[in-house]
Amino acid sequence: CGIIGYCGPLDAQTVLLNGLTQLEYRGYDSAGIALFDENSKIHFIKKVGKVAALRKVCEEDPIVSHCGIGHTRWATHGGVTSENAHPHVAGKVTMIHNGIIENYHALTAKYHLEGKLHSQTDTEVAAATLNEIYNGDPFSSIHEFLRQLEGSYAFCIMFEDRPGEIYAVRNVSPLVAAYTASGAMIASDLTALLPYSKKYFVVPEGKIVQLTAYHASLYELDGTKVEPEILEASWNT
Ligand code: GLU
Repeated sequence: CGIIGYCGPLDAQTVLLNGLTQLEYRGYDSAGIALFDENSKIHFIKKVGKVAALRKVCEEDPIVSHCGIGHTRWATHGGVTSENAHPHVAGKVTMIHNGIIENYHALTAKYHLEGKLHSQTDTEVAAATLNEIYNGDPFSSIHEFLRQLEGSYAFCIMFEDRPGEIYAVRNVSPLVAAYTASGAMIASDLTALLPYSKKYFVVPEGKIVQLTAYHASLYELDGTKVEPEILEASWNT
């Protein structure tokens, strides 16, 4: 699938929809976005089918936002329905995911999630697991969450009580990040970032990225800040 996250001065809905259009080749089943509005409330818009269908719904009723995440799905667990479209929400956690969580049955049992889920996806089990673990500190919560997971993933996560912030982690599935005066972004591939930035970094496995309005910062799982290795793209889209 295709993942994108954005925090910054531009209109988030426009940045996400444009990014999803670039990433559409990675998944055609459904598309969705989640946005913090100006009052720090999270809105969701999901649509089965192509990004153009999502764009139409979004443009009919635009949400003013400067922070959000977007996803185009390539279904692996659960059919192509709007319930199964990402983002998935569980309590304080809103999540998009690229990959497969192998142990989602075990997590469903361990965290007593049976009957509480609204979709058939492995991703919603991951979101509900993180919500069970979440203690108000994104770093220690994500660290513990990753210890519970088996599988491949790139996640972008918003916490209801952390408006204006996006957290991201990956294992196997790709993620690149960038920040400029136009804001901070993260995506499955560089094509979605290049209209805004030629400088970027590849998100290393086993580290946490935090996006805020103008910055993409990299952290160890224990919350220690580390400097990312900045690369420069030498080609245009
Ligand atoms: N396994 C997840 C699902 O089926 C994510 C699929 C993807 O990478 O698009 O919803």
